[in-house]
Amino acid sequence: MLDESTHFDTQAIRGGNRRTNEQEHGEPIFATSSFVFDNAAQAASRFAGDEPGNIYARFTNPTTQAFERRLAALEGGESCVATASGMSAITAICIGLLEAGNHIVSSRSVFGTTTVLFEKYLPRFGIETSFVDMTDLNAWQKAIQPNTRILFLETPSNPLTEIANIGALADLAHENNCLLVVDNCFCTPALQKPLQLGADLVVHSATKYLDGQGRIVGGAVVGNHQLVGEELFGIIRTTGPTMSPFNAWVALKGLETLSLRMKAHSEQAGKLAKYLSEHTAVKRVYYAGLESHPQYELARRQQSDSGGIVSFVVKGGREMAWKVIDNTRMLSITANLGDVKTTITHPATTTHGRLSDDQKRLSGIEEGLIRIAVGLEDIDDIVRDLSRGLDD
Ligand SMILES: *Cc1c(COP(=O)(O)O)cnc(C)c1O
Repeated sequence: MLDESTHFDTQAIRGGNRRTNEQEHGEPIFATSSFVFDNAAQAASRFAGDEPGNIYARFTNPTTQAFERRLAALEGGESCVATASGMSAITAICIGLLEAGNHIVSSRSVFGTTTVLFEKYLPRFGIETSFVDMTDLNAWQKAIQPNTRILFLETPSNPLTEIANIGALADLAHENNCLLVVDNCFCTPALQKPLQLGADLVVHSATKYLDGQGRIVGGAVVGNHQLVGEELFGIIRTTGPTMSPFNAWVALKGLETLSLRMKAHSEQAGKLAKYLSEHTAVKRVYYAGLESHPQYELARRQQSDSGGIVSFVVKGGREMAWKVIDNTRMLSITANLGDVKTTITHPATTTHGRLSDDQKRLSGIEEGLIRIAVGLEDIDDIVRDLSRGLDD
């Protein structure tokens, strides 16, 4: 076992694993749905919760637990539960910690499906959500009601890379008897540790940078033992959105290179942002690593680097944006992110397509906006691919 002073990069590679009697060096995949007991009395005490240990893989599986322990160590949390997807992690938080009559205040700039969950499905169970401009602390304060229990946000936001002040929002949450939940998908613990800044829960789509190579769908929540190890573990083992051992193994191995990858993604994105900001066909670049970013200073304090997502607005609206996208030959036209392969997206007609024109204007989703999730191909090839549409 590693002690508490073990550094991040060591935890990412060696944390969480418990070698079996076979003395294997690599982490094994426990492809089993249930576990056997020595005798009837042991079965009884496992089921009664008197004796710790595995019962059934909807509750626990050693491979999934290795991923959970490793991610908990990286985020600096006591406890982690892995889930089948990022959305099931967010859903588990809502149904596990809230009840009818409760209220959520959420950043307006959250993942599209999270908005659908909050707006369309939670009201059926008596849970309402107010949406606010993430960077406006007063707006958060005004939106809090006596029945508010959760403040929810993603920072940096998608696709405009706005930065929320996690520490200030944690204080506001705690003054009002609320939990601060941070979706740490864009930065990962390699670049930002929301729990250390005061957040109560960190949520992940493991589908993105934790896997890092676009192979699986998965999710996780990290926080203290009571909230995560007891309450969320309970709702997940009961409702069933457990992470499969194979997916847990892929994500577990992904964590081993997380720090290196996030550094490389950030370096590539920084170069791309600089190239774009000097291009005459580009009106505006959104990237927290540029001094022109409105929250450049806050990003420098809160994050150790700027991450791999760069968004930019081309002159000439949708026509020019689609031309740039359609002239690429290598970049993948897909909405996913967090992959070693670079992806390119037109938010106004895809990820943010269901917003009304007014909502798009309020959220800064212009027709000329393009989002790049910068991968790890040679940066010169990425630039060359974009320049085909931008240059002529
Ligand atoms: C993808 C994503 C999610 C949802 O995760 P899934 O694994 O697709 O369910 C949640 N939040 C953010 C920021 C995401 O990018």
